[in-house]
Amino acid sequence: MSQARNFLSDQPIVSVYEQVFDVAVLGGGYAGYAAAMQLARQGSKVLLVEPMADLIWESGRCFVPTTGESDHPLFNALVDDVARRGGADANFLDGAMAEVSATCILEASDVTPLYYAHPVAVEQDGQNITAMIVATKSGMRRIVAKQFVDASETATLLHLAGKAPQLSKPVSEQLYLYLQKLDWADSTLPTTVWPTQRYVTGQVQGEETTRQATIRIIEAMDADTQQARMSHNSVDPYPTYDASPSPLQAFGNVAVAVPGGADKTVKTLADRFDLGISAATQLANLPKADVDVSMLKQAIDTPKPIKTLNTDVLVIGAGTGGAFAAICAGKQGANVICADPFTYAGGIGTGGGIHGYYYGIPGGLQETTDKQISQLMKAHGNILANFTFNPVAKMVVLENHLRDAGVDFMSRAMLCDVTVENGTVTSALLTTPQGPVAVDAKAFIDGTGDGDLCVLAGADYHCGRPSDGLPHAYSQVSYGIAIREDHMVMTGRNFDAGWCDATDSEDLTRARLVGIAQHQLEKAQNTERITMVAPAIGLRQTRQIDTDYTLTFDDQISNRQFDDVIGFAGSNHDTHFVDYAMESDEAVFWINMTRNWFTAFAHPLPYRILLPRTLKNVGIASRCMGLTQDAHHATRMMRDMQRIGEAIGDAAAMLAAGDLKDLREVPMDQLQAKLKETGAIVDDTTQIKAVWARSIFAGSIHTDTLDLDVNDKVIADALEQLRQGEWGRELWLLAQNRDAVEAEVLNIMRDSENDKARWFAAGIVGFWGMAEAEPIFIEAIKAKQYGYEPRGDTTKTRAQSDPVVMPRKTPDWMSAVCMLRMCGSDTCLDTLLDLVTSHKPTMMTVISVFTTLDRMLKDGRITDKAKAARIVSAIDLEDTPNRFVHPQPILSGLADMALRGEQLPDSKPGNWPWSNTQEDHTWQLLLLKGRLCMKLGLDVPAQLQTMTTSDQRLLVRRALAEFAPQPVGV
Ligand SMILES: Cc1cc2nc3c(=O)[nH]c(=O)nc-3n(C[C@H](O)[C@H](O)[C@H](O)COP(=O)(O)OP(=O)(O)OC[C@H]3O[C@@H](n4cnc5c(N)ncnc54)[C@H](O)[C@@H]3O)c2cc1C
Repeated sequence: MSQARNFLSDQPIVSVYEQVFDVAVLGGGYAGYAAAMQLARQGSKVLLVEPMADLIWESGRCFVPTTGESDHPLFNALVDDVARRGGADANFLDGAMAEVSATCILEASDVTPLYYAHPVAVEQDGQNITAMIVATKSGMRRIVAKQFVDASETATLLHLAGKAPQLSKPVSEQLYLYLQKLDWADSTLPTTVWPTQRYVTGQVQGEETTRQATIRIIEAMDADTQQARMSHNSVDPYPTYDASPSPLQAFGNVAVAVPGGADKTVKTLADRFDLGISAATQLANLPKADVDVSMLKQAIDTPKPIKTLNTDVLVIGAGTGGAFAAICAGKQGANVICADPFTYAGGIGTGGGIHGYYYGIPGGLQETTDKQISQLMKAHGNILANFTFNPVAKMVVLENHLRDAGVDFMSRAMLCDVTVENGTVTSALLTTPQGPVAVDAKAFIDGTGDGDLCVLAGADYHCGRPSDGLPHAYSQVSYGIAIREDHMVMTGRNFDAGWCDATDSEDLTRARLVGIAQHQLEKAQNTERITMVAPAIGLRQTRQIDTDYTLTFDDQISNRQFDDVIGFAGSNHDTHFVDYAMESDEAVFWINMTRNWFTAFAHPLPYRILLPRTLKNVGIASRCMGLTQDAHHATRMMRDMQRIGEAIGDAAAMLAAGDLKDLREVPMDQLQAKLKETGAIVDDTTQIKAVWARSIFAGSIHTDTLDLDVNDKVIADALEQLRQGEWGRELWLLAQNRDAVEAEVLNIMRDSENDKARWFAAGIVGFWGMAEAEPIFIEAIKAKQYGYEPRGDTTKTRAQSDPVVMPRKTPDWMSAVCMLRMCGSDTCLDTLLDLVTSHKPTMMTVISVFTTLDRMLKDGRITDKAKAARIVSAIDLEDTPNRFVHPQPILSGLADMALRGEQLPDSKPGNWPWSNTQEDHTWQLLLLKGRLCMKLGLDVPAQLQTMTTSDQRLLVRRALAEFAPQPVGV
């Protein structure tokens, strides 16, 4: 069953920050969900604000197994929906399925959800709250409503309004660990709807952390239970409450649904739900604030902190890189605070559900953490094992390390403002559930992945590919269980869910909703089902900060050496796009022309890519470092982040200890000496190469790249390889060394008797923009030349594929269309016209032809505009096959077909039916057509203007903004 979403709204999209709501509900747990749904049902215009992006988190993050009793129809509708899909009965509610169902029900309701927005202040008119100020990824925003419901666990609205609420302590903090085994024989553990699943309950005790309690419970299990696999467990404990001795009261226009301040016991999910319903009921008797749209445009005052902390190093973001930076700075003796909105360490690498290293170079502190993760997995029998690394085990190890290094890990803390004086950041403001806290520090580290700290401090950045603004795709991972004959496997479903702008809270909200909804199953089976939806959205790319040096694609492939090396990275050019024609010329040359998608390369990382150009005491420990768009595709893996985290953590500690003012003053020899101690940098690359050669794609790796020194001999060897007609990285080296090789490459193109040699030489000549290559490309298109045997069997996975004829190979004719953009002229127009009229061109073909025409027109290489116009007019975009395509067709084995310009089947052969999403790319075709129409004096498609304002995807509205009837507020 395919799930092609329609992202086009009937009305222009209006931001929630440009609307006045009847009610804004804070908190997306059962209480907030109930209040919002009930109020919307009664006709109110409702905004549901959930900072953690975790709707009914008591189910999806705590995995509370039983519901309790409520007779409210909305509660029973949710439970019934899960039951209908096989995930609930009278005694059990599946947490993951409940989260998916609630998400889909919410989406279908009139409630407007807003995730990733953290309250930091309120504005009041007497007793009434008129606005809630929230911190978002792109600064503070105002939410205006007539009434509010505080359904946060922490009574945050009351705190922000200065009410200093007294909350009861939970009477218990429950943890649930779910175990999977084929045969439970006479186990007394509680059963669930799944015959192969039981669960264990325990409590967090005393001063224990959640992770310590989890491990204690595992260690206390009997041997039989230890033989089972732990599929999922509470990320956060579930708190239950007795009736509060001093219940919280509604105040002004605010109703309260806070479990720790309720006048009755709140133990079950149903209790929480009913609490939300009674808050919704209370609102009828509360006043409404006198608010109007004029408030929306007013400037937002920076809120005053409730307290100020002081530290040596403040790390913003405890993710893959940030956690390492904090640990290293702490180990060097610095006082360190590490702040993150999540309640766990590890960012995408844990909460995003990533569970294995893809390339990257081992070495450094990460060796220690990796060993500890493996030991933890082994030490608990089968219980934590399964993935290359288990995300829970990684959370435990990182949080232990942070504690051992003396780091103060502040969870539920989001950066919302910074103070900067002449390029020096002096203080950062963090949201906390009790109100904003300022932290003064000597050094600051941006571990946010998105570059929030750098951007708030004024750094420049770039975002997405220049052609259409798309960043790398995002994922919404889920874990699951599959039973295959007599054994059980745990699976992580890491499929691309589409694209989103991670700097925007509303687009992030849309992306999270879409991602979660994709896990909806008509009927789940014990033999194949999800067990957990990853609590964090999987973001691959947001902003790339403008740093002292920007690492390029050529630096990576050519193994450029740097005096300020602080680590090594290694990968292939792991772009998840298949519309390669939208990528840069270099990428087109590398992946289309020379077929190097799988070719991996290793290279040093210079310190300067961690230093935002305009800032003195700020370093970067996350994927937002200084990389070109192309370079980002290869350098962003977890090991890369762990390497840079280590380096910048050490450097920040040295700044603090030496009372330096600028991270550039850190003595490089001393920093490198520290990094050598842990093996983060080495003089002898033999060991690195040996480890790398055992990597999953060993066959396609060039382990020699670490030693590559581009000299005369290397160039001579590359020329010889070209004469033999062999594809590979050497073609890149020739293309980059034009002065030395131009004459010989032209000779090979003109005179070689080896077809492949002539073809690859033409690629290099075309890349140089020389018209001599054009006839060879025209011939390839006319002959529908493939250059390899197209694989017919699209069901094979990448690993099963012949390494030489694997997916992600573009046929020569398609490469030729793309290469013509660099060297083509009027001469190729007849051939392009014939290509699009002789058969119905697919999306990939249209994109290639349109980008080529666009570039040739821009460069003034086309004089026959009438013929170019005929090509454009000949294509019926509404009838273009593959306009709806899975964002990551490689996972479905269809990339090869897409790249061959062939029509994909309607539905991919499903091994993961729930991830069978299809993204509508019509906008991309319209964008390219619109640009061509402008250049050719044709009518711009009318649909473009509608999409500019009405497509739900911010990136689409932004990409099409050049066609907006008037400037749009995107
Ligand atoms: C779907 C997917 C699959 C992947 N697969 C692999 C793989 O197989 N192997 C591999 O090696 N790599 C893989 N990667 C890449 C890798 O996981 C990430 O690039 C890497 O984890 C990014 O680390 P980071 O430290 O830059 O960011 P993150 O790990 O995301 O950490 C950023 C942290 O900052 C916090 N934060 C954000 N904004 C703020 C703020 N304003 N204030 C405070 N805190 C903030 C976040 O909550 C988060 O904890 C994958 C990535 C994705 C998305």
